[in-house]
Amino acid sequence: MTPVAAAFPRSLDLAEARFSSRFVAELPAGATYTIVQPTPVAAPKLLAWSGGLAAELNLSSPSSRTVEILAGNALTPGMLPYSARYGGHQFGNWAGQLGDGRAITLGEIAGQELQLKGAGLTPYSRTADGRAVLRSSLREFLCSEAMHWLGVPTTRALSLVATGEPVIRDMFYDGHPAPEPGAIVCRVAPSFVRFGNFQILADDLKKQLADFVIRHHFSGLSHEEWFAEVCKRTALLMVDWMRLGFVHGVMNTDNLSILGLTIDYGPYGWLEGYDPQWTPNTTDLPGRRYCYGNQPQIALWNLTRLAEALLGLVEKEKLEKALGLYAETYQEAMGKALAEKLGVEALDEELVTGLFRTLGETETDFTLFFRHLARAEKPADLHAAYYTQPGPSLAAWLKLYLSRAKPDRAEQMNRVNPKFIFRNYLAVLAIEAMEKGDAAPLERLMRVLARPYDEQPQEEDLAARRPEWARERAGCSALSCSS
Ligand code: AMP
Ligand code: MG
Repeated sequence: MTPVAAAFPRSLDLAEARFSSRFVAELPAGATYTIVQPTPVAAPKLLAWSGGLAAELNLSSPSSRTVEILAGNALTPGMLPYSARYGGHQFGNWAGQLGDGRAITLGEIAGQELQLKGAGLTPYSRTADGRAVLRSSLREFLCSEAMHWLGVPTTRALSLVATGEPVIRDMFYDGHPAPEPGAIVCRVAPSFVRFGNFQILADDLKKQLADFVIRHHFSGLSHEEWFAEVCKRTALLMVDWMRLGFVHGVMNTDNLSILGLTIDYGPYGWLEGYDPQWTPNTTDLPGRRYCYGNQPQIALWNLTRLAEALLGLVEKEKLEKALGLYAETYQEAMGKALAEKLGVEALDEELVTGLFRTLGETETDFTLFFRHLARAEKPADLHAAYYTQPGPSLAAWLKLYLSRAKPDRAEQMNRVNPKFIFRNYLAVLAIEAMEKGDAAPLERLMRVLARPYDEQPQEEDLAARRPEWARERAGCSALSCSS
């Protein structure tokens, strides 16, 4: 994001900002979007605000009028709120039309769209209610910002507002619907266009949307070059997810961004014990389609569906060539990322095979293993990463590793191996506190996760392994799509 603050020294309240909308002005209504008004809520209350993002947008602290806007209770004169139309493949099957069922884009400032998630019914709500609960909204708010702070492309989040209204959810899908507090997140991105926005359109409109996306976000590229760039960005995004142990959980084609951003934080999770088969999403448990280890190949599957949608726009051979670029980009960047994580000059087969064997043979915390490896000299230096005890291959692997590792590797490794991630149980603790009206745990997490690669020795408890109570607890290791 460009630091617009430098160009405009005086920051502005959001209620005073001048909004526009290139999406509405340049694309046809009906096929690509519908103008929608947010539904007002009873008692808006600002629960969290991303000061860092606000500064990038040149916004001052929110006024009470701004909180009304962020709750969907008020608009400014320039706003033309819309919900986008898209389709998608869900869990491998074409699901037809989906669309923004609860997201309403207010308009854009400084080249960034502001979108309210949970702001009420839209023409795409189907049988659902257009709302979102506090627990999932808090998770989306903080994880969006945490991803940005980790250096991963992502949609951002400006605010978290309680609606003061209950939302009925059957959290475990077991026939026990119950009221939960409702909330709205204001998401921010240059564009929220997904693969699915293309999939749902007729060929002439696909071209219009592609031209729009290229004009504003891939300036100067041909259709062919643009698709190749989407493949490349998606590959680099997968490298970021894999190097950090992030599992999105619902990689349907409607949840993949055309800009290569992480988008739609739902039942996501962070690897604790290293396990390629792990998925946080209970809805995905039978097939584990979207488990950690499958993510790179699922992204390629999704790009292939996008390529099929673009057949009328780009020649088949060129699309296939770009899809080939995906694998190339992924392999090369993942190799580089792994070498950096390990602090070695170059990878070799023995080192890598041994690494994954040792990570997999006993429950090993993915984040803590790499963090502690930076200064490890003997197996005991890695004890913080083990949920029970190190596996039998650790000692030999570490010896091999130390023969390859750069002696002064620690600082460089710590720049790529975070100490602090938004562990699922930390989210649960922040949610439980917030549901009781206590914002302090969320505020502390915002402060600490803003510097994930720094030592912050006074915050050690937030860098600890998942505690045992969280092992089987709902929301800590397993999440449903209910949100
Ligand atoms: P997801 O897999 O969560 O990204 O959502 C899939 C589709 O369901 C999208 O079209 C969403 O807009 C829609 N959806 C999810 N939850 C709701 C809700 N509470 N109200 C309306 N639409 C929803
Ligand atoms: Mg979605």
